[in-house]
Amino acid sequence: MIISDLHIHGSYSRGCSKDLTIQNLEKYAKIKGVDLLGTGDFTHPKWFAHIKESLNEIGSSGIYETKTGQRFMLTTEVSLIFSQEGRGRRVHLVVLAKNTDVVGQINDVLGKKWRIDYDGRPIFGATAAEFADLMQGIDKDIELIPAHAWTPWFGIFGSMSGFDSLQECFGEKTKHIHAIETGMSSDPEMNWRISKLDSVNLVSFSDAHSFWPWRMGREATVFDTKLEYESILNAIRTGKGLNSTVEVDPGYGKYHFTGHRNCGICISPQESRKMKNICPKCGKPLTVGVLQRVEELADRPEGFVLKNAPAFRKLIPLSEIIAKILNAGIATKKVWEVYNRLIGEFGNEMNVLLNADEQKLKNLVGEKLCDLIIKNRFGRIKIKEGCDGEYGQLVI
Ligand SMILES: [Zn+2]
Ligand SMILES: [Zn+2]
Repeated sequence: MIISDLHIHGSYSRGCSKDLTIQNLEKYAKIKGVDLLGTGDFTHPKWFAHIKESLNEIGSSGIYETKTGQRFMLTTEVSLIFSQEGRGRRVHLVVLAKNTDVVGQINDVLGKKWRIDYDGRPIFGATAAEFADLMQGIDKDIELIPAHAWTPWFGIFGSMSGFDSLQECFGEKTKHIHAIETGMSSDPEMNWRISKLDSVNLVSFSDAHSFWPWRMGREATVFDTKLEYESILNAIRTGKGLNSTVEVDPGYGKYHFTGHRNCGICISPQESRKMKNICPKCGKPLTVGVLQRVEELADRPEGFVLKNAPAFRKLIPLSEIIAKILNAGIATKKVWEVYNRLIGEFGNEMNVLLNADEQKLKNLVGEKLCDLIIKNRFGRIKIKEGCDGEYGQLVI
């Protein structure tokens, strides 16, 4: 089994720290238990140079590794801003490429049309169909995955500038889209409610803008394939070998509910509809969240289960749980001390979250934290829903 996180960012992406290097990604991927990471940001010339000097391809597998054996695949994300059917659209796409030659060609093509050197996630003025066409012209094995498909501002189905279907966005290029990223604020169960999405596979990645283990790998896709680009690509395209996904509780995501962060309003779709999506405090339109948007497009009832879909599990990052129990900030010494003790004993975070023996856990960190880790393993931690850019909160 390959635990992968293929949507991350590097130090040249806006808002990311200078320390977000391949070396630190490698270090924390091992601590987190992520077998295969995306490089992120391969369109950025300096980051691409950093990728090439830090990683070597394993044979001609399309998988790259560091000297100590952390595996990477070449990935990036682009932001398309365009107008379609009289509306301004913003769609983020994750891009996968099979080797550095292909990435070189992608960067040549994009660099001639637009600037690619100012942000790890550049903005292009192309429609999604035009961009798909451009990539197909370079290499048929380039894969585009609509990123965090439901987020209000940049998701393909987002409430602010999104579309109602893949077809509406990609037109005749829809056939090149095989998977969507569910994003943190939705999970597979929510996506199953839309029958049109039966034709695509659901993947999950973190979109981490830092290497900290409460960001990287918080969502992940587990592949049961050979470790090579072609096999991973085939799993994404056909679903065969797509074993399962790791999700956070969708309530933990920043856009699950509808609301206004500054007005302290965070409400369910039912309540929001009653208020005609208008903020009761400031009178402006609310930011319609992912749950409400899913309900708008759903043609199946809540609780519908799609047959033969890959399994998924809901996991809250370990640091969050420790921070909650200790009532301390997530990045504090106190929290790290307990975190490191667990990693020391069980090897990596995924192993703590998924497999660690209950009795051993209890002896190491006490009953309260042990209970919460076990509850988390079965997706039983309650969450107060997030909205309008604010994360959801654990409730104990
Ligand atoms: Zn991203
Ligand atoms: Zn308001």
